[in-house]
Amino acid sequence: MLHCDMIIGGEKISATDSFDVVNPASGEAFASCQLGTANDVDAAVVAARAAFPEWSSMADEKRVEMISALIPALEARMPEFMQLVTQESGKPMGGLNGVGSGMEVGGAMAWIGATAALKPTVEVAHEDDNVKIEVRRRPLGVVGSITPWNWPLMITIWHVIPALRAGNTVVLKPSEYTPVAVTRFAELVNEILPPGVLNLVLGAGEVGSAIASHTGIDKVVFTGSSRTGRRVMESASANLKRLTLELGGNDAGIVLPDIDIEAMAPKLFAACFHNNGQTCAALKRLYVHESIYDEVAEAIAEQAREVVVGDGLDEDTQLGPIQNLAQLEIVKSLAQDAKDQGGNFLTGGNQIDRPGYFFEPTVVTGLSNGSRLVDEEPFGPIVPIIKYSDIDEVLERANDSESGLGGSIWSSDPEKAAELVARMECGTVWVNDHAGLNPNAPFGGIKQSGFGVEFGDWGLEEFSALQTVWLSKA
Ligand code: NAD
Repeated sequence: MLHCDMIIGGEKISATDSFDVVNPASGEAFASCQLGTANDVDAAVVAARAAFPEWSSMADEKRVEMISALIPALEARMPEFMQLVTQESGKPMGGLNGVGSGMEVGGAMAWIGATAALKPTVEVAHEDDNVKIEVRRRPLGVVGSITPWNWPLMITIWHVIPALRAGNTVVLKPSEYTPVAVTRFAELVNEILPPGVLNLVLGAGEVGSAIASHTGIDKVVFTGSSRTGRRVMESASANLKRLTLELGGNDAGIVLPDIDIEAMAPKLFAACFHNNGQTCAALKRLYVHESIYDEVAEAIAEQAREVVVGDGLDEDTQLGPIQNLAQLEIVKSLAQDAKDQGGNFLTGGNQIDRPGYFFEPTVVTGLSNGSRLVDEEPFGPIVPIIKYSDIDEVLERANDSESGLGGSIWSSDPEKAAELVARMECGTVWVNDHAGLNPNAPFGGIKQSGFGVEFGDWGLEEFSALQTVWLSKA
């Protein structure tokens, strides 16, 4: 069994209780972690506040140098990090279209580099003979980071690195399902950055709640479900914490009648099924024009029948298991409801008879808005393909959702696609693609998918406060 300690003020901390981390490909525990409490959150906040003055006033180049040093340190241990991510999250080392733990660890390094290269700006809002008014950016203080289980290391980097880059110190709590790679990353950070700059508390919702409500924390960046996001927002009101909430998505894709079906089918399939559908901005509802509906649905089902499902540590595996038992139960219940509603299963529909939490890649036709599989986020390897005849009407159905994370238009006509993009109610719209991210382009949701953005200057700004400075010339 691997072992994970908490890290507070640069020291490894033990606890009285512990919890196990299960490999979803086997259903068996492979790591044991110290279970934190609200007292550990208190201690982590004290350590983070103590480290803040030195870290926030350090010369900017020095801070960038230390953050950048994390890249070679991570690269030197890339195989170990990949294996840990695969063991705890289930995602394959390589994966469908290269979406696997190699991409997660490689992406983590790329995002550290891109974020380190950002520069907090000083702008001049006004200048005349009497006064110059500058707008500067100040770090906020202590940032609390609460992360989910689907991209554990990557999302930690998305939270922690811009927070540190902007001069804040951090208290981090990874998902109780996937804390192992993040713990090793926090150890590595503590070898390079001063003690107390990044503190790690392990545990489940109680620890998250203690972070969200702690009056010594100035901002929380949270990625997870909309339900938990609402609770975080409630807890955060105690001291008017700033928030970035990256929440659930139920992204729609609209396929126009003019697409090249053969060329687009593998892309559509990967958009729905990469990481076994467990990506916030995966394509989760696919609306296809009636003239090509059967052909597109069959082409996607064909891919689903051929994709290799298995243990992520096996080289050939393209899709792994569902990450945890509770999520498997959600997927099973949505599949059952789709059956009860008369959905037509072109392939899949059942749990796979082997140890671990495997479910067949599943393609369902014949449903529409109003059935659970279309209205709710499945977060698993199951996708409804929905027929439409009129573009205005399908846009209404695509937008008729609580979620507003991403969406996509699939067409051979770029002008038509560009016109439709503006009518999609979501934070990111892709044309002939879905779920791609770039460290220099903002990513975030609207509606119940949350608020605030990550990445680029826009993301960095969420970790600082504006300070307006009047410089009188008199
Ligand atoms: P979750 O909401 O169950 O848990 C997320 C984190 O919140 C975990 O660390 C958990 O321990 C913690 N938590 C639980 N209760 C809490 C409380 N009361 N206060 C504070 N923290 C608490 O989400 P999950 O199941 O881990 O992740 C899946 C969800 O995350 C999906 O809905 C997915 O769409 C969403 N997600 C969104 C994005 C995005 O960028 N928008 C990215 C990845 C995942």
